[in-house]
Amino acid sequence: MSETLVIHDLAFEVRRSQRRATLGLTVDRFGELVIHAPAVAQIEELRNWVEKKLLWVHQKLLLKDSVGTKSKPLEVVSGETISYLGRNYRLKLVEKQAQPLMFDGDWFILRRRDQAAVAQHFQKWYEQAGAEWLAKRVIGWQRKTGKAPASIAVSALGFRWASCGRDRILRFNWQLFQLPVRLIDYVIVHELMHLKEHNHTPEFWRVLEAVMPDWQTRKSELAGLAANVNWR
Ligand SMILES: [Zn+2]
Repeated sequence: MSETLVIHDLAFEVRRSQRRATLGLTVDRFGELVIHAPAVAQIEELRNWVEKKLLWVHQKLLLKDSVGTKSKPLEVVSGETISYLGRNYRLKLVEKQAQPLMFDGDWFILRRRDQAAVAQHFQKWYEQAGAEWLAKRVIGWQRKTGKAPASIAVSALGFRWASCGRDRILRFNWQLFQLPVRLIDYVIVHELMHLKEHNHTPEFWRVLEAVMPDWQTRKSELAGLAANVNWR
């Protein structure tokens, strides 16, 4: 699971390496901010160092936005990046394969003749893989929150990330599984809390905060990353 540092509404992915001796900062082609750090670097040290670089970061991000690379549409070509649970994988197109889309743990492999229906194939894949992962994840949060849904479902929900019905069924958008786990966790806890308090009352946010003290940071990160989600 990736480590994230949030400073003034900007989320930085921390990549640690045994071979690194100094700190580095990059903005990748999707506008993601990455801190390269020695394995042993303290989080406070990273925070202080990044604070001094914020002007540079904002300039870089402005540049990215102006050329429109931040939320570039997916290209169905070999080498394209596809995220699952916040981790990036590569897409590979092949001529022959038993199914239209497969995942081998490293690559998403798409049969070339199914290219036109790529969104459908990925939706199906995320729905299956996501539902399996989600079932276990929700159980963990059920224990921490004391709230249990009647059942959970994964499907297309348009621009909503999730919903909590009067029937106590929690429904999650399949597109959610492209995002980092900590943001999916926010959506899970948010919906579980709706089992207790159906509307967004002050009491709702209070009980949410008791379970997830940094919910506000996660909520704004989710809003910030929404533009980078494919097929949305
Ligand atoms: Zn809500």
